[in-house]
Amino acid sequence: MLYFVQDKKLHRFPVPMRCGCKYENEPLRDTIPHDVEQCIFCMNYWPGED
Ligand SMILES: [Zn+2]
Repeated sequence: MLYFVQDKKLHRFPVPMRCGCKYENEPLRDTIPHDVEQCIFCMNYWPGED
């Protein structure tokens, strides 16, 4: 799983449909930083999703 930071929030890459953000070549990382807010759309577990 890869992540990136945009607008001071941590998003998942690739960005799930429900998240409105658009990936714009931010650096990708494979660890979750603790000093940044997590996007609820990307980072929460949603029932029924793979
Ligand atoms: Zn997001």
